[in-house]
Amino acid sequence: MTDTSQRKVALVTGSSRGLGRAMALSLAQAGFDVAVHYGRNADEAAKVADEIRSHGVDAGVFGADLTTPANAGTLVEDVIKGMGRLDVLVNNAGITRDGLAIRMKDEDWDAVLQTNLSSAFVACRAAIKHMMRARSGRIINIASVVGLSGNPGQANYVASKAGLIGLTKALAKEYGGRGITVNAVAPGFIQSDMTADLPEDVQAAYRKDIPLGRFGQPEEVAALVTFLASDAAGYITGQTIGVDGGSHPH
Ligand code: NAP
Repeated sequence: MTDTSQRKVALVTGSSRGLGRAMALSLAQAGFDVAVHYGRNADEAAKVADEIRSHGVDAGVFGADLTTPANAGTLVEDVIKGMGRLDVLVNNAGITRDGLAIRMKDEDWDAVLQTNLSSAFVACRAAIKHMMRARSGRIINIASVVGLSGNPGQANYVASKAGLIGLTKALAKEYGGRGITVNAVAPGFIQSDMTADLPEDVQAAYRKDIPLGRFGQPEEVAALVTFLASDAAGYITGQTIGVDGGSHPH
């Protein structure tokens, strides 16, 4: 049997599809054991885990509905129990429920804030307790460029992503002394299921404002996440780093 005791463990929420899937695979290629998390797509998550194992590292599959923030705490505890440790937490799971603010239903506001922000906070709280004992850890929150710039029709989503950026800064200050780094990644327009349904004219308008002239790929966000999870990124904390083709310099 292989000795897995020294291998670090990374949990990526929402890694059954899209950006999270690319992050899980990239972390596996970098030598992490990976906890794959899904909301509804258990079969897709199992496929991601199989692909991870083909890189010679371990994978676990964990389901949790993050519309209910308490489930995020249970998820982190289940991962620590099931995989023995937790070195990297990537809060990636996220949803949109777009609409003009004046017509936005309370349930759409609540679902987005709970899934994107409150669940991330609860996961951080559970992970930090464990990481403090290890005196080391990496937390990476997947925000969005719109959390910095604002975007019409997305008051709930923008508020959740701006909240994640603030949470990142607060936790970086609170737990830097314990060897834990906390950073946010702000993707621009990345090709995934989340963006696939946008009408072509909306996509064309976004593309016009991207200096690199194209949308990003999930692997291009995953590369930054894997760097931030690495030992080489040990002096970077409290930052929000864009992966946006130059659309939102800050
Ligand atoms: P996606 O393709 O829609 O995938 C979303 C992931 O989150 C899935 O794995 C899904 O799991 C999980 N998820 C959604 N709701 C959940 C819930 N209630 N409980 C548990 N898991 C849930 O999205 P994506 O484009 O990869 O986006 C990933 C992250 O990047 C999000 O936070 C998003 O806001 C951010 N982002 C994306 C873009 C972009 O252009 N795509 C830009 C900026 C930021 P299941 O399928 O298993 O339910």
